[in-house]
Amino acid sequence: MKARYPHTLILPNFKAEVVDLMNSKWSRRRFIQTGALALPMIKVKSAGSIQTVTGRIPSKAMCKTLIHEHVLVDFIGADRISPDRWKKEDVILKVLPYLKELKQLGVDTFMECTPAHLGRDPALLKSLADQSGLQILTNTGYYGAVGNKYLPAWAFTETAEQLAQRWIDEFENGMERTGIKPGFIKIGVDPGRLSELHRKLIRAAGLTHLQTGLTICSHTGMAIPAFEQIEILSAMKVHPSAFVWTHAQNEPDHSMQIKAARSGTWISLDGVGWGDVKKYADNLQTLKVAGVLNRVLISHDAGWYKPGEPDGGSFIGYSRIFKELIPLLNTRGFRKKDISQLLETNPEKAFTIQVRKS
Ligand SMILES: [Zn+2]
Repeated sequence: MKARYPHTLILPNFKAEVVDLMNSKWSRRRFIQTGALALPMIKVKSAGSIQTVTGRIPSKAMCKTLIHEHVLVDFIGADRISPDRWKKEDVILKVLPYLKELKQLGVDTFMECTPAHLGRDPALLKSLADQSGLQILTNTGYYGAVGNKYLPAWAFTETAEQLAQRWIDEFENGMERTGIKPGFIKIGVDPGRLSELHRKLIRAAGLTHLQTGLTICSHTGMAIPAFEQIEILSAMKVHPSAFVWTHAQNEPDHSMQIKAARSGTWISLDGVGWGDVKKYADNLQTLKVAGVLNRVLISHDAGWYKPGEPDGGSFIGYSRIFKELIPLLNTRGFRKKDISQLLETNPEKAFTIQVRKS
């Protein structure tokens, strides 16, 4: 992608990048002589960055963002999945028009939430970012939901520390030998009380957060596992604002969403692609009245190319928020600033790379 914010000296407000620059093109003395070192020190408190598949960019450049979408998902299972189940060219042919449509709708950033062992393909996402002009983020972590069908064998035997080390390594060195780095953590748990295995996944996510500053998105749905995960993180001194309660729309008791939001947790209402739009408007209105719209994220959870089906199967586009939900919200007193809070301000705050301790 021709990033609008290429890696230049304007943006090294993140310590690691300053070190990178000092180690590579710049000698320390030259770096200091130019005054470049002074810049990050001035800006470090006010600005941060996000990690896209094409590189690190300032969070300010994130702009209009869909925080939970899919390009490709393969539900074949961790024991049978393999990247030769799909051809990148075929996927690009199918998905690119939908991403181009998003560009036309004014979207700048697209977060791809397909985890490893379910069809995460960093190189494919990079090609799509290059060709669409969208800033695309992908993830590290493992998905335990649906009875552990998508967990690799070692997820059952390794400790939380060992799993976290694998995810931290992806953040530091890139995924699957591509050099492409994840921009957030994605895990998944089943509804109801957390199993010991899923408690381990959230602990591994917490450890990864403390080391990398990546935000944790967890496929969760209901309130019981949401609060159990928040509690486990709190015991590790990870602040609730490092946690996104993914698929929170599945919890019918909206007072639970409000309670979590007041603790700092991000509430993700992310199934607009295939849910009842009116239900989303109702839920958003409740959260607005409660004064917690500043903790809410929205997306479609739409897409996606399905390997094994002719031409990738049926596909849900990513435009319903713009074509149906926003017009409906406008009739209910939502203002421009509310919409930009949901699609711009909140995603930037939620996904800026930063360790958040309680
Ligand atoms: Zn999803």
